[in-house]
Parts: sequence; C-alpha cells; structure tokens
Amino acid sequence: MSLSTPVRYLKGVGPRAPLLERLRLRTVQDVLFYFPRAYELRAPTCGIQQLEEGRTASLTVWVEEVEGRATSTGKHMLCALFRDEHDYLRGVWFNQPYVQEKLVRGTRVRLTGRPARNGLRWEMIHPQISQIEGDEGEEASGGLVPRYGLTHGLKQARMRRVIQYALGEFANAIPEVLPDSLRREHALPGIAEALHAMHQPRDETSLAAARRRFAFQELLVQQLAFALRRHDVQTRQSAIPLPTNARVDARITRLFPFPLTDGQRQVISEITHDLARTVPMTRLLHGDVGSGKTMVAVYAMLVAAAAGCQVVLMAPTDVLAQQHFETLARLLLHARVRIALWTGAVKESERQELRPRIASGEIGLVVGTQAVVQSPLVFHRLGLVIVDEQHRFGVRQRAWLTEGDHQPHYLVMTATPIPRTMALLAYADLDVSTLRELPPGRQPIHTYHVPEEKRARWWDFYRQQLRAGRQGYVIVPRVDSDEEGSVTGLQQAFESLCHGELSDFKLGLMHGGVPPAEKAEIMQAFREGTTHVLVATSVVEIGVDVPNATVMTIENGERFGLAQLHQLRGRVARGIQPAYVGLFADPGTPAARERIEAFVQSSDGFALAELDLKLRGPGEFFGVRQHGLPRFRVARLPEDASLLNETRNLARSIVEQHPDLSGEEWQGLRKQVWKRYGHSLGLGQVG
Ligand code: ADP
Ligand code: MG
Repeated sequence: MSLSTPVRYLKGVGPRAPLLERLRLRTVQDVLFYFPRAYELRAPTCGIQQLEEGRTASLTVWVEEVEGRATSTGKHMLCALFRDEHDYLRGVWFNQPYVQEKLVRGTRVRLTGRPARNGLRWEMIHPQISQIEGDEGEEASGGLVPRYGLTHGLKQARMRRVIQYALGEFANAIPEVLPDSLRREHALPGIAEALHAMHQPRDETSLAAARRRFAFQELLVQQLAFALRRHDVQTRQSAIPLPTNARVDARITRLFPFPLTDGQRQVISEITHDLARTVPMTRLLHGDVGSGKTMVAVYAMLVAAAAGCQVVLMAPTDVLAQQHFETLARLLLHARVRIALWTGAVKESERQELRPRIASGEIGLVVGTQAVVQSPLVFHRLGLVIVDEQHRFGVRQRAWLTEGDHQPHYLVMTATPIPRTMALLAYADLDVSTLRELPPGRQPIHTYHVPEEKRARWWDFYRQQLRAGRQGYVIVPRVDSDEEGSVTGLQQAFESLCHGELSDFKLGLMHGGVPPAEKAEIMQAFREGTTHVLVATSVVEIGVDVPNATVMTIENGERFGLAQLHQLRGRVARGIQPAYVGLFADPGTPAARERIEAFVQSSDGFALAELDLKLRGPGEFFGVRQHGLPRFRVARLPEDASLLNETRNLARSIVEQHPDLSGEEWQGLRKQVWKRYGHSLGLGQVG
C-alpha cells in the first residue's frame, strides 16, 4: 500500500469509502491532509471519588438508569444514574428531553460538568455528554481532540479512527516538501511531525507550530507560483521599449484640461520608467474612486503612441469602453493618433472596415471590451495593454496577454483600493502603484442613512437638486424582485418612480441585460442631460463619469458590500458641486450595521477596503475565487498577513537564485507549485 492507494483499502473504511469520497477523500494521502475543522479541549478525566464540590470535571462513566418525567411545575425533568468502578453520580436535565437519546443504558459516555454534593451522592446539572465508541476515550489524559467535517452517515469517532490509523501507518512515508535549510531557518517542524500535531496535538504550542508550517507552505507555494510567472515575463519575454522625454511629456500634458496631481505624477513616473525598458511592464494601479486613474492610463497610452506603438485599453463593460472612447476622442481631437472602439455593440460592417486599419497600424489606440480578446484582432505593433477595473477579469486573461514573441507592456487598474494583503495574495506577480490623493477642488460627498420615516423628505431634497439642474442616480440591488418581496426589482422600482416620486422628470433604465446598442443610447441621453435620472443596478456602470450627476439614492443598501457602496458613491463625487447620497437600508445583521455605519462615516476608500476585508474575509472580498486560485486549507487571511509577507519576499529571492526550481531540494516545492497553480497561472510555458 502507498499514499495513492484508494481509501477503501484503509483499515476501518471498506464499505464506507463512498462516504469519504463525498468529502473528496479518495486516497490515503487525501485522508492524511484532511485537517480538523476545530478542536475540542477536553479536561483530563477523573473518577467519581476524586470529584470536588463546584470544580468542573470530566469523567468516563456507564449509563445505569435513565428516567424522564414531568415535575409538579410542569417542567420536563430527565434524571440519569451513572457509575464508574467505585461510585455513582446523578445527572439532571430540565426541559431537555432530547438529551435522553444520547443516554443508552449500558453504554459509556463522557460527562463534563460542575459537580455538587446532594445528600450522599454527587450530582451534575446539565452536564455535557459525548458518546464513546469502541476503545476511544480510555485514556484519561484529556487534551485537544480533533473534530472533522463529516457527511451524513459518517461518525466523528469513525473518522478519527480512520485518520489515526492512516497517520500511524503512512505519515512517515509522506515526502518532505520544504528543504531542510528553509525549515531550520524559519523554525518549521517536519512534515510528518506536523501532520501528527494537526491530527493529535499534544498541546496548543505544537498545534500552533504545525499550523504555522502548513500555512507557511501554502502561502510559499502560491507566492512561488507568482514569482515564477513574474520572473518568466521579465526574463524570457521581451517588450518593445517605449521611452519618453520632456518634449513628449509637454505634448501630452498640453492635451489635458487640468494639471496632473502630484500623486498622478508619481505614478506616471513609475509607469514610464517601466515602459522604457525591454522587460515587459506588469503593473497594477490602484487608487480610490475618482482619484484620476483614467488620466494616468491616457498618459501611458500616449507615451506608447509617441513611440510608434499601438495600445489596447480594455474595460469591463460596453458602456465604460464607450465612455473611455469618448474621453479619448475629445482629448485627441487635434492630435494625430487615430482611435477606434471595439465592443460587442460595434457592427460587423464596421469591424470589417476597422480590421485592416488596425492590422496596418493606422489606428493607434483601440478601446474595447473583452470582445478585443475574443475576436482575433491582428495588430501591427502592439506595445501596451491596459485593463481597467481589473477585478472583473480573471487570471486566464492575463495568460492570453502574455503570448507571442514580443510581449506588450501591461497595466491593470482596479476600481477601488485593494488592501495590501489582498494585493499580495491575488496580484503578487505584479508591481503595485498606488494613487492616494484625490484631484484638488473636490466637493465633499454627504452620505446619509435615511430612516424609513424620512423617505418622503429625502425625495423632496432629491427633486430639489434635480430642479436646480443637477442629475441623479437611483441604485437598486437586483433586476427582479426577490421571492419574499423584501427587495424591489429594478423594473418595478422604475415604474413606481415614474409614476410617483420622480414623475416630473425623465428617467433612464439601465441594467446588465440591456442590449449594447441601446445601452450606448441610454448613456448618451444621460450624459447630454436629456434624461435626468438613471435608475440602474450596481454592477453595470462601475466607473461611469457624469460630472453633473450629484445625487444618488441607494435602495436596500444592506445588500451591497462596503467596497461596492463606496464604488457606487464615487459616481456622484466627480464634479465641482457638493454631492449627496441617501441610503435606504435595513441592516438585519451586526455586520451589515457595521458596514453601513462605516460607509456613512468614512469616505476614505483605503480604510473602507481594509474594513470590508475584515468583515467579509478574502473569499468574498472581490473575487479571489474568480481568480481561479485554489483555496487554502490552513492559511487564514488577513490573520496570516505577516506570513504572507515573509513568504512573498522569500519566494522572490528563491526564484532569483533558482529560477527553474531545479536542484534536488526544491523538487517538493516545485511539484506543489505545478500541481496547484500550473493551470490557473498558465505556468505551462515556464516549466
Ligand atoms: P477613477 O480613478 O475613479 O477612474 P477618473 O480617472 O475617472 O477616476 O477621474 C475622476 C474625475 O477626476 C474625472 O472627472 C477626471 O476628469 C477628473 N480628474 C482626473 N485627474 C484630474 C486632475 N489632475 N485635476 C482635476 N481633475 C482631474
Ligand atoms: Mg475609472
């Protein structure tokens, strides 16, 4: 038998193999790495004669007698008599008739409770009971007992026994993953020792050490995958250098209607430094909503154009692509560079016309959506790819962007700030630029959590803003009403606004399902001010920029994540007019309440992003899962942030010294990296 032997051959499994398989445990190795969900701290057991008044104790006893009855006050009372080798003890439960199920005469149970002397006999009120099966529980030592995730038909005690058997037989056969030198340097226990400690911890200290080891390993493997990818891009792939100089800078900034902020300047210098090299840039730009990332992107695009290269700017939606296209077209009215829009809404006849002009290099800038990737567009000299609002895209997309012999430089922009831990986790192969500062002259955004009884007053205010010439949004969490009727759907909300609160105004309706061409028209009408209010769902129009829109109503605010609320609010934070957000929300949970309070009180996107991560955990925080990254078994974020940091630096230095992870001692890690990340990170070409 070996580690890859199917579970059904393990002692104690046999016909229960399908149950284990339901838990995705197929081989002996799977079983060994099936870590407990939690641990139970068991007090050491003692005999009944050693009990002391009022002092909590655990004992292993036989069930002698069980009796349930009603008391004179109408309560249910369950009494049981237990014994060990020397003495008797009574257990009493009030109004817990279901406890009786656990008390089968003649079986052994473990009781934990606080004993009291009642006449001549010891008694415990409401002691905890756990059943003892087979030979388990004989030992009186107590300690940490593992609790595994189970499935229907599989008992905790059985699972423990199977795993303990596998551990005893096979733990020593598990090959070590981490090189000895690394383990020594970072004080990490060996794999067999750590496996034992995960399943049968001697104490908290050895458990903590084992956990640290596996968390370290998981994070290191992930960081190595990223580091390898980054190394691959930087050394084996070359890019067309896109140098710039003061003259180019002057020509570009002359096109801008305002001076760049210091923050924008700083980020631009990081980017142009990268662009000038023959190593492809792989950079992430993040910053608060409205910090002016688009201008930074435009600058980079024009640097590339000045160097005679083509650029693709990809946005997550047609509407955003359209908007970027218009921004650029306006700025470049008197410039030489030609620009094209390539989205799902662009007609085939138009595409036919554009294709050769892109292939010949006549068109310098292509603004589009994923459609750019999907249609096999041929470029003349593609030098730079910019992806806006990245968290809508997955890792796969990045893999596509780094094929061919000359790699384009690559800039990713996210819609909102990313907490540092998350950046390290999901974007560790990228260099990070941060835009902290907002452009000057920004008006404050006033955010209110509007109580139900002030609904009418809020709408009064909203209409007053519209009459003063401003425009507004109404954001609804979903297109359809939900079954319980607690959330009003978009269509319904739209109708009721048309005939009610906003009947004097022209409203536009927008959601993900609107056909692309129609979307463009709706946005156009809103931008021109022909419609006064846009009633929309949240996901569609991230990044839309209409400076005259200064009021926003958010319905069912409890349905949105914090980062998302902040992102939405950014839509009205653009102009020179003060902006107002009225949030209707019914925070049913403490977490929702905390979110809403934070949202109302703070407009610092960085602080809100950190809090969002803390409240929701990294899985829910935008799209780690979307990135196709395997989940960790042991590592927890943000709690293990310092380990993440440690492993990231370590991974980069390992890859610098051993770029192929060749060499005997690295084989264990190398195998793990490929097994877990080879596919999702497109490491195929690397190895
Ligand atoms: P985001 O970072 O959210 O993508 P945008 O790039 O859309 O932000 O910029 C937000 C608004 O700020 C836009 O209306 C833009 O024209 C304006 N803006 C950008 N940079 C500056 C600047 N340096 N000075 C003044 N306004 C600016
Ligand atoms: Mg933007």
